[in-house]
Amino acid sequence: MQKRLQAKSFTVQQAFDISPNMRRVILTGEDIRHLPANSAGQYVKLLFTPAGSTDLSTLSEGQKPVLRTFTISEFDAEQGTLSLDFVKHQHKGDISPEQGGYACHWAMHTQPGEQISLGGPNTIQGLADGSDWVLIIGDMTALPSIQLKTTHLAANSQGYVVLALSSKQDLPALQLPAGVELITVIDGEHPGNALADKVAELRWPDGKPAIWCACEFSTMRAIRQHISQQDQFDRKACYISSYWKHGVTEDGHKVIKRDDQDSYNG
Ligand SMILES: Cc1cc2nc3c(=O)[nH]c(=O)nc-3n(C[C@H](O)[C@H](O)[C@H](O)COP(=O)(O)OP(=O)(O)OC[C@H]3O[C@@H](n4cnc5c(N)ncnc54)[C@H](O)[C@@H]3O)c2cc1C
Repeated sequence: MQKRLQAKSFTVQQAFDISPNMRRVILTGEDIRHLPANSAGQYVKLLFTPAGSTDLSTLSEGQKPVLRTFTISEFDAEQGTLSLDFVKHQHKGDISPEQGGYACHWAMHTQPGEQISLGGPNTIQGLADGSDWVLIIGDMTALPSIQLKTTHLAANSQGYVVLALSSKQDLPALQLPAGVELITVIDGEHPGNALADKVAELRWPDGKPAIWCACEFSTMRAIRQHISQQDQFDRKACYISSYWKHGVTEDGHKVIKRDDQDSYNG
């Protein structure tokens, strides 16, 4: 288990779009040297005031910061930089504890030189070892993690990577082994739950799969229900997590996610 680090301060070096619906923010600063060499693929917490500022000195006594969770998509200890990739889900409107939008709004408006505090990093569970094939599923919020996970697949891996994207142009460059098929669905082009429907259509090869899935809460539940009914399903070789929930901020999602996990665990 990774030891949780104190919140550290970073400076925005650059912010730019890497695809129509994904914005990258590159951070730098002295505190980079406190992060482990394997930080890419781990998650951090971004800290905001309830009013949406990154200046935590404006928090009043006893007031807690608002936390938002993101994956380190790239880490370069030599250059002293780390990158975070933000899905552009909300570009306008006021930031408030009820409406949320802290992280996306910040990523869309931040400028080089701005400071932000981060907690972590902490480890995101990987693909289970010793499987016969892999099933990797995610929406845009899981792309930073999935991109890194696929670079570590063995050359003889078999299986599927199933992605829900906002547009075709949001597909990142993935180096997949020949035996791993890439399947994409474009959100909004299909009625209903396109990602869960696509996963339900898959033909399961023989043998034991290692499953990794991260996406929207209701989609995650639909996928979890389907895969847990399969004969080859082995819970120990499966990571399935919701990364966000329609109509609910991360603060509300956190509570719903915990309750769901408790009832799933029985
Ligand atoms: C371990 C982990 C790693 C994650 N890594 C990433 C990452 O690398 N990149 C990334 O973009 N996200 C990532 N997420 C998801 C991210 O934490 C949430 O999307 C978060 O809610 C965004 O915060 P916000 O302040 O922008 O919006 P919030 O204040 O949390 O929510 C405001 C409103 O926006 C909606 N909303 C939130 N996210 C989305 C979305 N993606 N699409 C559409 N509507 C949305 C909510 O339903 C709500 O109505 C990760 C989550 C986890 C748990």
